[in-house]
Amino acid sequence: MPDCLFCRIIAGKVPSKKVYEDEYVYAFEDIRPTAPTHVLVVPKRHVPGLNEATAQDAEIIGRCNLVAAKIGRERNIVDGYRTVFNVGPRSGQSVFHLHLHLVGGRDLAWPPG
Ligand code: 5GP
Ligand code: ZN
Repeated sequence: MPDCLFCRIIAGKVPSKKVYEDEYVYAFEDIRPTAPTHVLVVPKRHVPGLNEATAQDAEIIGRCNLVAAKIGRERNIVDGYRTVFNVGPRSGQSVFHLHLHLVGGRDLAWPPG
């Protein structure tokens, strides 16, 4: 998906602040952080969003959450963080390449806006 922003970030064609990378997943700092930790955890394979995910994406969805948990432990924010998939325009999803937000390092209100 050459016109996809996150595919371009994963390919190194758009610069990003890398937090973690393995064979399946790339994680980087959100450009407009909403908390002291705001990291995006992205599958390397292009999937538009959770609504388009299928059973073959089950493992990568789990991997994204486990990578977020690892980063949360490394950053010592395990007293409160959130992992969020925004799904669809009404949720605020603006980039249509599946990504998990890891948000933490401050008190988080519930319910979210
Ligand atoms: P969404 O609104 O789709 O759930 O989340 C997209 C996120 O990507 C937003 O939090 C936004 O700040 C972030 N973002 C958009 N463009 C870029 C970019 O070029 N670089 C980085 N690092 N983050 C971006
Ligand atoms: Zn993509």
